[in-house]
Amino acid sequence: MRKNIVAGNWKMNLSIAEASNLVETIIDAAPALRENHVVVFCTPFTHLQTIAKIIDSKGHSQFALGAQNCNDQIAGAFTGEISVNMLKEMGVTYVIIGHSERRQLFGESSDFLKKKVDTLIAANMQILFCCGEPLEIRNAGEQNQYVQKQLSDSLFHLDAAQMKNHITIAYEPIWAIGTGVTASTQQAQDMHAHIRHVLSETYDSQLAADISILYGGSCNAQNAEDLFANEDVDGGLIGGAALKSETFLPIISAMH
Ligand code: PEP
Repeated sequence: MRKNIVAGNWKMNLSIAEASNLVETIIDAAPALRENHVVVFCTPFTHLQTIAKIIDSKGHSQFALGAQNCNDQIAGAFTGEISVNMLKEMGVTYVIIGHSERRQLFGESSDFLKKKVDTLIAANMQILFCCGEPLEIRNAGEQNQYVQKQLSDSLFHLDAAQMKNHITIAYEPIWAIGTGVTASTQQAQDMHAHIRHVLSETYDSQLAADISILYGGSCNAQNAEDLFANEDVDGGLIGGAALKSETFLPIISAMH
């Protein structure tokens, strides 16, 4: 059975004190999670150690620590970067790769993302791989081909076992990220079904059924239930609504 995942991407927000308070509150107040449910906190690097300790102290194995980025190199002269081993030392198990902000603001290419994917898999990490089209591509009706190319450029060199054991896909239409404009439940379901179809064609139908596909882009306490009710939507990658327990807890509760 594939996992249902709600991952909070805090981006460059929250002090360590605010973040600690948030995680304590969320874990204490969260609904009973099913065996296949996972909640991930993707914190800034400076918060990882503190949040890891809080997660450990609560003793719930379904809450996990995530990072927002990782370099493709193991060590060396890469000022300002962080390596997979440094993240592992902090207790990180999930890493976001290919977020549109990294692609657009920091110029990360598909080839660079492919190298990061390989480095993370070699280190036995879980990858939240983001894909999603800009507005002009959606308006031109070319979103399916666009997303398919993002996946094939950075992921489809992997073998089936690597895909199944390490990859979660997060479909995040760029026009919906931080804008308050959410994809309709139909738009989300259509793209998720397309991604599953592509996985089935590239690998096989069992692999396509096993991979979790999350939706991201202005998902909130009001729309999460409808979005997650779609057959092919297995949870969400959440930005703004992950910063407060009042908005994040209902999203956790919306996992089916
Ligand atoms: C994101 O940046 O991954 C995201 C989904 O942001 P928001 O929920 O704020 O749109």
